[in-house]
Amino acid sequence: MDGFFNLMLRIDMTQQSFEMIKLPDSLLGSKLGGKGLATHLLLEYNPGGVDPLSSGNHLVFAVGPVSKTAIWGSCRHGVFTKSPQTGCYSESYSGGAAAESMSAVGFDAVMIHGAAAGPVWLEVCEETVYFHPADDLWGLDTYTTEDRVKAWLKDNRPQAKKPGVVCIGPAGENQVTFAVIENDYWRSAGRTGVGAVLGSKQIKAVAFWGSRRRTMADEGLVKAFAKELAKGAKDNPGVTAYKTMGTPMLVDIMNTAGGFPTEYWRKGKAEHAHKINAKALHERCDVKPHACLKCFMACGRLATVKQGRHKGLTVEGPEYETIYAFGGLCKIDSIEEIIHLNDMCDRLGIDTITAGNLAALTIEAARQGKIDMAIGYNDVDAIAALLENIALRRDIGAVLARGIRFTADQWGMQDQAIHVKGLEPAGYDPRVLKGMGLAYGTSDRGACHLRATFYKPELAKMIDPEQIQGKADMFAEWEDRLTIFDALILCRFYRDMYQWEQLETIIKGTTGLALDSRSMRAIATRISNDTRRFNLREGLSAADDQLPPRFYKEPLPESNKVIHKSQMAQLLKEYYAARGWNEKGEPPDQDL
Ligand code: SF4
Repeated sequence: MDGFFNLMLRIDMTQQSFEMIKLPDSLLGSKLGGKGLATHLLLEYNPGGVDPLSSGNHLVFAVGPVSKTAIWGSCRHGVFTKSPQTGCYSESYSGGAAAESMSAVGFDAVMIHGAAAGPVWLEVCEETVYFHPADDLWGLDTYTTEDRVKAWLKDNRPQAKKPGVVCIGPAGENQVTFAVIENDYWRSAGRTGVGAVLGSKQIKAVAFWGSRRRTMADEGLVKAFAKELAKGAKDNPGVTAYKTMGTPMLVDIMNTAGGFPTEYWRKGKAEHAHKINAKALHERCDVKPHACLKCFMACGRLATVKQGRHKGLTVEGPEYETIYAFGGLCKIDSIEEIIHLNDMCDRLGIDTITAGNLAALTIEAARQGKIDMAIGYNDVDAIAALLENIALRRDIGAVLARGIRFTADQWGMQDQAIHVKGLEPAGYDPRVLKGMGLAYGTSDRGACHLRATFYKPELAKMIDPEQIQGKADMFAEWEDRLTIFDALILCRFYRDMYQWEQLETIIKGTTGLALDSRSMRAIATRISNDTRRFNLREGLSAADDQLPPRFYKEPLPESNKVIHKSQMAQLLKEYYAARGWNEKGEPPDQDL
């Protein structure tokens, strides 16, 4: 089928063997690639109730039919598995350049199961898989690991042009439940602990190289579409905003809205926001816009600290979510120090959102005398030490490494811990943006902001953030469109430019499938039903779609806002109906 290789690679780490398995057109046509394909594979191959850190858990790297084409925003790959952080469905996406190498090996998905007896790095090419010992890489940070693997390939595989390398840091090796898989130094499959799953299989890194190209149904259409889009984007204010300010522009936007989570979710405004916003970043650091391959938006900030104790330190970042997690929740009032913590998380290989949330919870535990530890708000060195202890499972880090639910149980803070299904939310307070409450409650991977990115229509006043009745229909439509993004694997920041009409062109040009918005929504529905079935099989129920109690009971001091439990009940009721699920949040047994 055009747009696909109709082939997956299944790697058995225990046996150190692999097989290539054909994928039928009927499957790809009904689920597309990326998330649609990977979720189908997880449902088929993963035993229900499998321990996420056992050899029986499968982890899937997937690309989509747009990968390594001229389509803008297409250089992304997805990682799918059962999460050790939440115990439910796990998906995580990353940009950079690795997706194009992943596509060039000629598989729509690379699925890994089993576990090696000792550290290994994998070399995946068109015809074979090499299992290399990785004892000399074990213990290294992510940057050094990537450098070493690329250097080895340069010396030993001169034919490997532009290999892509994904890897884990010490946190992944130690199976910290929120460890990431990193690529291109600073790009991460960052949420739900996919790095811990790789670590449990003793895989330090995976390199991809090859020269396969997917056939396209209408390459002329794809190229003309891409050219036209780039031309039209020159005057697009959204593109300009991302290019000039990056995601840190959201600090001011969320602070003004009163939904910038501060002091471990006690407040919605930070008095020190001017010290950690996009302006501060651009004034206090040398900043260059930085882009993934196939992107004219360049939302990334390649930032180098100009002065102080971190002078010369460069990261691609910090993203808004990292600023909110450390700058808001932990009240770090220096953009340079946030860059420092960002760099530590990237090197150690941990998710910055979860790390910031757990650091702030630890600060609260210390303040309330639940633990004996010298750590406070804005105490950057104590937070840095905590991050290292988490990655190495040392001292109190051994508790935090098991995630927020375990930590809250240990410290008697169940009522204070902010998470849904074990995943901490991003930087949009649902007491202000009510649709984000629905997003956090119902996202398949826990309190995720990305499945519908509903902060966008609420902040842009496309819908009143306070509206409850009738919101779920619009939410489901956004979620469906972005589910198609995840099946093709497209960057979310192209969401304004890729409406249904543009998606129709992209799918037609790459796969040849003639899909209107109705048929695309039918595919998105099948994918959402599959992820829900996965979670129900793991024992989740509608009760797991509830928000943490503080969002219902504790008003934000600046606005006195909460999201009432009755409001959430209404949102959920309408959402289940919009999804075609019953009142228990269960999809039908069979899809049409
Ligand atoms: S908008 Fe940002 S995340 Fe998306 S492809 Fe471009 S640089 Fe990467």
